Amino acid sequence: MTVAKVFIVILLFLASAGCTPKEQAHRPARKLTVVCTLFPLYDMARSIGGEYADVSLLLPPGVEAHNFEPRPGDILRLNDADIFIYTGHFMEPWAESLIKGLDTGRLLIINASSGISLMKQGNGWRQSGGHVHAEGMDPHIWLDFDYARAMVETILSGFIARDPAHGVTYRHNAATYAARLEELDHKFRVGLANCGSSAIIHGGHFAFGYLAKRYRLQYVSAFPPSGESEPNARQMAEMVDLIRKTGTGTLFIEELTSPRLADTLARETGSQLMMLHAAHNVSRDDLNRGVTFPALMERNLESLRQGLQCR
Ligand SMILES: [Zn+2]
Repeated sequence: MTVAKVFIVILLFLASAGCTPKEQAHRPARKLTVVCTLFPLYDMARSIGGEYADVSLLLPPGVEAHNFEPRPGDILRLNDADIFIYTGHFMEPWAESLIKGLDTGRLLIINASSGISLMKQGNGWRQSGGHVHAEGMDPHIWLDFDYARAMVETILSGFIARDPAHGVTYRHNAATYAARLEELDHKFRVGLANCGSSAIIHGGHFAFGYLAKRYRLQYVSAFPPSGESEPNARQMAEMVDLIRKTGTGTLFIEELTSPRLADTLARETGSQLMMLHAAHNVSRDDLNRGVTFPALMERNLESLRQGLQCR
């Protein structure tokens, strides 16, 4: 066979690779076992792994992600897994402690934030008002869809390293997912370009800094940036004042946490409440319904367009 012929054969193989029947002949008896800390990672990993991976979410449905306390069974679960995926120590400090207790000879650990420089966490209005708190870094990188695509790339590399035999399928699946993220980015850019208000006033913890920055919106969170405690009386008063001043008439609230604070703010200011889903984790209902990360983001876009009066 000449070099040119070999080249053509390779090209033909690559062209047909999207359909995957050729790979089924050498499918391993066991699927890759993949455990992910957060919902976006879970959604990315199951999309990339497709039929060759058994992907699960470490967080039980509906559980708060930042301050999760791993259970003894989680260590056993990870010791039996092939791949563990988390986003880094600013988001899941508990994951790093968990890793220390593992027998990692077999397990591939993927830090999905590798290569991404985190931005500082901080409310614009607090900075302008001279009340900047010591805050650390903002770990909610999946809410910037470019970073989300970088995370897909990082996860893909892990899958290929652990199971090179199905690399062609993994690459194909990852490309499909990345294209979906690109489409989302485009929809957000167009959908949020022309709005009556540019301020996302959020009665939840500081999670949407990346999203706001990407689409040139202002973002204010009612919680102190650590996300661990509720605002004090002075911060609440500042928040009420700000909602009145911006006059957006909309207070965005978050999923999975007590709406008590948001209800109070809404009552004080006469704002309407709209849900923004930060997607750290999902409810049991959403999980059972097979909700996807892009689907949650589509819901967010609807809420934002309505709440910010976009045309
Ligand atoms: Zn968060």
